[in-house]
Amino acid sequence: MQIEKNKVVSIDYTLKNDDGQVLDTSEGREPLNFIHGNGHLIPGLEEALEGKTKEEKLSVAIPPEKGYGNRSEEMVHTVDKSNFEPGANIEAGMQFQAQMEQGVQMLTVLKVDGDKITLDGNHPLADQTLHFDVEVKDVREASAEELEHGHVHGPEGHQH
Ligand code: ZN
Repeated sequence: MQIEKNKVVSIDYTLKNDDGQVLDTSEGREPLNFIHGNGHLIPGLEEALEGKTKEEKLSVAIPPEKGYGNRSEEMVHTVDKSNFEPGANIEAGMQFQAQMEQGVQMLTVLKVDGDKITLDGNHPLADQTLHFDVEVKDVREASAEELEHGHVHGPEGHQH
């Protein structure tokens, strides 16, 4: 069976940056399960997996345009510390999620200068070429229930 839209796919993967540094890997964990063709993965990885079959291995380099995008300085904002909980210990490098008009966004604290906090809404992997080594562990039909929910269910079925 080939990977195509709405198939349930399981992959093992390792993600490296241009320097060969490992950024993320499924090694030592369960494979990543997802319903293909619905934007669960970055576009470049879904494209690379299209048509692949169980046990195939691939190595792909994905440019930022098909990964986490290019950095935009418009995503960098300076806000007053009063926007945070009183007594919160905010330090450069911290990451947190914020509820924005367009949905949940990951923000990184770039700088703390007195009461002024500079926040970066760019994805931490923006501007990076992503090097994926992937092994397809399984490809199967999605159940009607999985398609309806938009996510993969375990072997015991619906558990939520
Ligand atoms: Zn469900």
